[in-house]
Amino acid sequence: MPSPIGHSITGIIFLVLWRRLRHWRELLQYWREGILFILLADLPDIDLFNPSEKMFDLYSPHHHGEIHTFAFAFFVALVVTGLNSYRIKKWNWKLWGWAFAAISSHIVLDLFFSNSTTPPGMPIFWPFLKERIILPIHWYYYWEKSDIFSSTNFINGVGEGVVGTTLIALILWRNSKKRKR
Ligand SMILES: [Zn+2]
Repeated sequence: MPSPIGHSITGIIFLVLWRRLRHWRELLQYWREGILFILLADLPDIDLFNPSEKMFDLYSPHHHGEIHTFAFAFFVALVVTGLNSYRIKKWNWKLWGWAFAAISSHIVLDLFFSNSTTPPGMPIFWPFLKERIILPIHWYYYWEKSDIFSSTNFINGVGEGVVGTTLIALILWRNSKKRKR
């Protein structure tokens, strides 16, 4: 799994793409949606807060289970869009699509780390296919699972921050060029 930093930035990237934002300050206007997209992109890891187990236990056999699946993303996006449509009295398919994309981004990113979890892989196509999917390629860095707050993990988190922020900057720049035409 990428850290919450990587997942959160990915959520913001989907908001920037959806709203075609051109500048960092426009993100402030969309702060509510920003918080929503950060929560959505991190949501599958809610299984690390299991009251009956050790918190943040990446070794837990329950981590990378049924809520790291596209079915979960589909369902949560429906709930979010349903709540929103209740408020504005209109169904917003775009919100559904982008919310689904934000949650799915978590699943896709985690796949690159899923060789090393216990058990390996993730049942991403559950309930249609119960097999756990494992990618043949692995991410270029690893996480210290025994000590979440280790210096290695800190450096990885900073790396994700730098790469993610650069990506957002590039998309903002591309959007600003497009609108000027
Ligand atoms: Zn995860």
